Amino acid sequence: MCGNEKLKEDKLSLFGLTDEQREFGEMARDFCKKRLFPVARKFDEEGIPDDFLAELTELGYLGCSIPEQYGGMGVDLFSLINIIEEFSRASGGVATLIGAHLGLGCKSIEMFGNEEQKAKYLPQMAKGNITSFCLTEPNAGTDVFSIEAKAEASGDFYILNGEKQFITSADIAKYFVVFCKTEKGPTGFLVERDDGGVSVGPPEKKLGIRSSKTCGVHFQDVKVPAANIVGPLGKGLRVALSVLDYGRLGVAGIALGIAEQAFDEAVEFAQNRVQFGKTISSFQTTQFKFADMRVEIDASRYLLYYALGKASEGQRFSLEAAKAKLKTSEVASFVADSSIQIHGGYGYTEDYNAERVWRDGRITRIYEGTSEAMRSIIGGMYRGKKE
Ligand SMILES: Cc1cc2nc3c(=O)[nH]c(=O)nc-3n(C[C@H](O)[C@H](O)[C@H](O)COP(=O)(O)OP(=O)(O)OC[C@H]3O[C@@H](n4cnc5c(N)ncnc54)[C@H](O)[C@@H]3O)c2cc1C
Repeated sequence: MCGNEKLKEDKLSLFGLTDEQREFGEMARDFCKKRLFPVARKFDEEGIPDDFLAELTELGYLGCSIPEQYGGMGVDLFSLINIIEEFSRASGGVATLIGAHLGLGCKSIEMFGNEEQKAKYLPQMAKGNITSFCLTEPNAGTDVFSIEAKAEASGDFYILNGEKQFITSADIAKYFVVFCKTEKGPTGFLVERDDGGVSVGPPEKKLGIRSSKTCGVHFQDVKVPAANIVGPLGKGLRVALSVLDYGRLGVAGIALGIAEQAFDEAVEFAQNRVQFGKTISSFQTTQFKFADMRVEIDASRYLLYYALGKASEGQRFSLEAAKAKLKTSEVASFVADSSIQIHGGYGYTEDYNAERVWRDGRITRIYEGTSEAMRSIIGGMYRGKKE
């Protein structure tokens, strides 16, 4: 065990993680070391191949947090976030695919699906049938209340029409949880890709997490059984926002993984790069950078684990999730940027990971609620009486 890994072990034991929770993280770390790190840049350039997704399914990762009774592994929240963190260290894109599938798509059904929906869909999702979460629209990003996609009742069906924007994994999704306006208010629907009338646009050309594809999805007269309404009719935004609280814990795990990876790569580089006859890690300016990076990462982990603790105990955790997402994502950018600086010119090239890690980290300040939106949630607590 190298020094940095030992430090991480100590931190995890401080939080009282069980052996099992730690083992899930360790298994994911071993898998990623062998199977993902070596191909992460290739995936960034070419996308995630089907055989890798098949391997993830076979090992249970694409169903790991789905309850065992529905064919998943039933890992708890701490274990899931540890797993996501480990994947993110290797590839923010692969971690995004796993996080969005489990933390948004599957979670919508776990939290708000009825028994029939859970029995029908969760085992399929656990088998690696990717589930996308479709909330964002061209005119409704942060302002989710402005969604325009419509679902009109027609007998035992609803007819869906509308446009969704920036949908993670839409290129390969078998299922879509789609939020639309209805007569009774916004409502969630489970749409199957083969329902007819679903078309997925080309992947966006993105700055980072390029292995994870992000596409627009067009719904044209899609006929969805009323039985596929997810959660109460007219309460879709409550469904979406509750699921997003969980999703934000996943994003915080992704951000933390990116920060840890950027830190380790910066240390490794600095301990080997010699200038003025010394390793650059021997310069106090470099050590001060490490100090600031390390303290920020550890502070993020505390905030995230506090939020996970509250969520695990069944307490309300929206505020804690917002704080954890804000802090970890801002820290991921700060640490990844510092890592490039420590790498000097090499950090600006594709010969080192630093630039990819920085690109991957940047999205965590945007998706599943921007940093400004997180600040609004947190700061809004102190607004006082409404005028
Ligand atoms: C790679 C990627 C993957 C994504 N995956 C999904 C997905 O799977 N499903 C899904 O539904 N969505 C997804 N999204 C959408 C993502 O959640 C939105 O991009 C994000 O919520 C911001 O919305 P917007 O892009 O429309 O920006 P806008 O809401 O237009 O915001 C633009 C800027 O204005 C600021 N702003 C907006 N309103 C306010 C305000 N009231 N006060 C202060 N500042 C404000 C924002 O913080 C931001 O800086 C994804 C996006 C990306 C880029």
